[in-house]
Amino acid sequence: MAFGDILGQERALRVLRKALASNRLAHAYLFYGPPGVGKKYTAMQFVKALYCTTSHTDACDTCTACRKVAAGHHPDTMCILAEDTSIKIEQVRALQRHLSYKPYENQRTTVIIDGGELLTSPAANALLKTLEEPPANALLLLLTGNKDALPLTITSRCQSVPFRPLAPADLRTLLERQGIPAETAAIAAPLLGGRLAPVSMADFSHLLSIRQSAYQILQDVIQSQGTASFLQARKFAGKRDQCTDLFQWLTLFCRDLTMLKVTPNLPLYNQDLRVELTTLAQHVALERLLEAFDMLQQLWRYLGMNLNSQLLFEQLLVQLPRLLAPSHAATPAPAAGKYERRSNA
Ligand SMILES: [Zn+2]
Repeated sequence: MAFGDILGQERALRVLRKALASNRLAHAYLFYGPPGVGKKYTAMQFVKALYCTTSHTDACDTCTACRKVAAGHHPDTMCILAEDTSIKIEQVRALQRHLSYKPYENQRTTVIIDGGELLTSPAANALLKTLEEPPANALLLLLTGNKDALPLTITSRCQSVPFRPLAPADLRTLLERQGIPAETAAIAAPLLGGRLAPVSMADFSHLLSIRQSAYQILQDVIQSQGTASFLQARKFAGKRDQCTDLFQWLTLFCRDLTMLKVTPNLPLYNQDLRVELTTLAQHVALERLLEAFDMLQQLWRYLGMNLNSQLLFEQLLVQLPRLLAPSHAATPAPAAGKYERRSNA
């Protein structure tokens, strides 16, 4: 069933299921939470469940009503999206006309507004009038990734339905449903920051190739004191985005090695390399890992501040073996002022 396909949003589903089961719906709901966590998908399932002719509490996905909503052809529902980065008063007037008509096929007329934070001031004022005096049988679903950007006069007139960032396990399942191979999904899921952003297989291949470079660098440095992989990775230094990805992966690997030292039973970012990382962790002391983690985070921050990526890479080349190679005694790190600010690297 359709609600059953929604992952990680139990709190939101509780509110919606309860409303459907009791047939006591508010005139307006505010779906709020970060982008990419399923607000639009859930709104569609809610509308389907409302119009479904075989179930009152969920969508069957097979009846004519469910199929019409899914195809965007149901005459009683409409969806409003931003046009040229904003939702304009003309669009709100169109939704007001839609809500003023008697429903054709159901007892309710619905409107989904996707991107409530993009309402212009005149559009928000017009919408407020609808919320103050909602037409009988009207249902408005206002979706926003930024609740604070909406006037309180609007949000206070909607029943709030909170959406949360997605857990890596849920993201992994959702990626697999999109056809991403299980192994790739497992590696990528923890890196998506709790959101299912649109990503292609090319993005994932790139992600995995940088991860491989980062792993090779750490393995070389920790096990053989070598820097061959490091020198190979030098090609990333002139490309800020790739350099950022490399620093991020090195940071995640250091975090995983630290976790293996401190709480070895917890899941790792690089869970598929657990055996190899456990071996690596045995070759390096915890305090060195913590120092390396701090150093990487600092370099990553500097990269974000537009400091010269070539120089930051050189620093990495010096600092990582200093901290993690077995026979190197840790020497004081250079001062932060050493890194030059440059806009073209
Ligand atoms: Zn149905």
